[in-house]
Amino acid sequence: MGDSFYPLLGNGGYDVLHYDIDLDVEPSTNTIDAVTTLTAVATEDLEEFNLDFLGLEVNAVSVDGVEAEFSRDGQEMTIQPVDPLSAEAQFTVAVSYSGMPQPFDEVGVPFFPMGWHSMNEVLFTVSQPSGAMTWYPSNNHPTDKATFTFRITVPDGVEAAATGLLIDESSVDGQTTTTWQMDDPMATYLAAVYIGDFERHEQQMANGLLIRDYVPRNSDPSVLENLAAAPEAIGFFEEILGPYPFDVYGTIVMPFALHFALENQTLSIHGLYAIDPYVIAHEVAHQWIGNSATVDDWSQIWTHEGFAHYLGLLFVADFYGQDIESIMAREYRDLTLAGTSPPGDIEVHELFDPDTVYRRGALALHSLRNHVGDDIFFHTLRTHYDQSAGGNTNTDLFLEIVDDLAGTSAVSLVESWLYDPEMPGIVSGPTL
Ligand SMILES: [Zn+2]
Repeated sequence: MGDSFYPLLGNGGYDVLHYDIDLDVEPSTNTIDAVTTLTAVATEDLEEFNLDFLGLEVNAVSVDGVEAEFSRDGQEMTIQPVDPLSAEAQFTVAVSYSGMPQPFDEVGVPFFPMGWHSMNEVLFTVSQPSGAMTWYPSNNHPTDKATFTFRITVPDGVEAAATGLLIDESSVDGQTTTTWQMDDPMATYLAAVYIGDFERHEQQMANGLLIRDYVPRNSDPSVLENLAAAPEAIGFFEEILGPYPFDVYGTIVMPFALHFALENQTLSIHGLYAIDPYVIAHEVAHQWIGNSATVDDWSQIWTHEGFAHYLGLLFVADFYGQDIESIMAREYRDLTLAGTSPPGDIEVHELFDPDTVYRRGALALHSLRNHVGDDIFFHTLRTHYDQSAGGNTNTDLFLEIVDDLAGTSAVSLVESWLYDPEMPGIVSGPTL
């Protein structure tokens, strides 16, 4: 796919339409027995093609039901169908595999290993940007989104959850299988599975949206109470960005601390002590900005994190009755002391740099808002989202919309925040 940070992620020659991920999981040994079936369309004639898959034992591969040759080299799996595929042909490739999935260290995410984890009797996945390939073979780049089905089999009494809507649950011979459907396009890094001793709680928002949350069994009631900020944030962001983009939302809280939360599509993962209104709103905002409208290259990550940080701060300002001007003035003071790099021109190790990517990105948006006024600013945010919803985006697409709706001086202002080595002066608005 030619990603500027991760040239090995993703493969050309085909477009995945659907993933069917069938996982038989033994939590006591952290082992899986799995079959992932991709339905794809060839975009050129193919003698062979590649999937991204790291670790585990591959037992067999078939293409359109016929066993195929395959070889592996690091994260690249090369598959040779018996009959070459013609351009525009739709085909299925089924990979059966087993073993203990292994997380790996990722230069862009130095604070937590990537992929499938086993921790304190919970199995969970953390896949942004590259970890999906530790637990299912895929075209592992956000420019190839697809729909998903997850079928997870675990011993009775163990709770399994995945991104998407729960559409079926059955129990046979002491094993429970749950089936989850994601009918909206999803990037591979946003697929997630969680297995452990969780309680499921469901409610419906006034607009009919299903909210299903998972908290550790026998949690303090305050844990669930904290999660009430999520439907509030959904309502708040619907006013700004339009209808919530998916069929369901929820938060899953781990029974331990994590130094992050992650916006897996329709079911965000939070550490036990990361469930304050800001963090919850930040992950909710990502359902629009990041999950529905997704970067086309990982170097563009500020278009996720700068936006989600600003939207999260707008929510907490409203939630606590605070003034966004004072919040942003404090952010600016902090950054002046910390020093930043330009968020539009980062290196891979800065992917999740909170100062450069999140806070300076948010200050770019806040300065734009004060430069052009609320009407044009929020119209710009909404138009930018609408044009990329369900697909991909990048900085240039955003700047084109800023140019169309707010003019060249606004573009120059945003560019100075994104590209100047020195941080520009904040554009302040009226304080309340
Ligand atoms: Zn984020």
